[in-house]
Amino acid sequence: MHELALAERIVEIAEEAARAHGAAHVRSIRLDVGSLSHVEPDALAFAFDVVARDGIASAARLEIRRTPGSAWCGPCGRAVLAERLGDPCPHCGGYQLQVTAGDEMRVRDIEID
Ligand SMILES: [Zn+2]
Repeated sequence: MHELALAERIVEIAEEAARAHGAAHVRSIRLDVGSLSHVEPDALAFAFDVVARDGIASAARLEIRRTPGSAWCGPCGRAVLAERLGDPCPHCGGYQLQVTAGDEMRVRDIEID
């Protein structure tokens, strides 16, 4: 399960940040998840609860923000907005899209005390 590995990584990052600042708790973690990534926010939130349970991030709120994706359409010769993985080009209906942004996940902000 892909989300479990991601959740472990997120908890690790948050705990490292807390330790580095001598904080006892992680209050919240804000994530940017590209809408073209293979990450399922609900599954990630669930995995996070499981992984964080016994650590200092156990009470942390996980806020997941979906960031828009974009892709390059070869036939159209232009960049297009891509809402979801597997969707066709909104202009020509073709499937020759190359994702240029929105397939990544990153920790935007961690609140500790
Ligand atoms: Zn197109």
